[in-house]
Amino acid sequence: MSGSRRRPLVAGNWKMNTTVPEGIELARAIVALDRPDEVGVAVLPPFTHLWPICAELRGTGVELGAQNCFWEDAGAYTGEVSPAALAGWCDLVLIGHSERRHLMGETDEQVARKLRRALTHPLQIILAVGETLEQRDAGTTLTVIHRQLDAALDGLDPASLERVVIAYEPVWAIGTGRTATREQAQEVCAAIRTHVAGMVSAQAAERLLILYGGSCTPDNAAGLLAEPDIDGGLIGGASLKPAAFGAIIAAAARAVNATVDG
Ligand code: PEP
Repeated sequence: MSGSRRRPLVAGNWKMNTTVPEGIELARAIVALDRPDEVGVAVLPPFTHLWPICAELRGTGVELGAQNCFWEDAGAYTGEVSPAALAGWCDLVLIGHSERRHLMGETDEQVARKLRRALTHPLQIILAVGETLEQRDAGTTLTVIHRQLDAALDGLDPASLERVVIAYEPVWAIGTGRTATREQAQEVCAAIRTHVAGMVSAQAAERLLILYGGSCTPDNAAGLLAEPDIDGGLIGGASLKPAAFGAIIAAAARAVNATVDG
């Protein structure tokens, strides 16, 4: 839909990896990477790591995000973490990751409730959407993506959309080593932008960051990030390796600079 443009974001989803000391060490290694200004960088460590890593990241420009939150601000919800508790010192929260949808049984409705609650706080939300292999093979990829977007973003005003980033993550590509081709990823990311334009506004959709996630590595990042509707990556496995994560950040910088120069 558009030539780039938007400041890309490369966000590392550490999932349930690292101990607290290992996580602090990893955060320090990421802070030490060459991080060009034209690329936003974020890390999403496990909940237990957020507070000490917040101290490591202060003043560095690397943003801090949580991997999930609950849909209420407080109450008798044992084991859950409230967006109110994250707000003010975490920058981001990831909502609707496919591991939560498929392993923990999170529904579209629950994802929508989480997003609405998180939006009542000063947090940026990364909303993850994506189809399974069965859905792709059945030709229903866009139906699924539209349903997930409709459920989460229905009635959202343009100002709220400014605080939402969409991550397109085909479930069959996450942690499998099987990446979507750049054409497949671009097709869905462009469709997401068009759909959001219809739901919210064309201007808001034009500014929307849409990330690709799913076995993104230094080997395939340049191609994916060169696509006009892919504004960065949500990186799982490769975000645990500072050199690989740094190479993906560098690829994002090259992609955005090539667009600006071109
Ligand atoms: C993810 O979990 O969001 C992800 C994209 O994982 P990986 O890069 O390991 O496929």
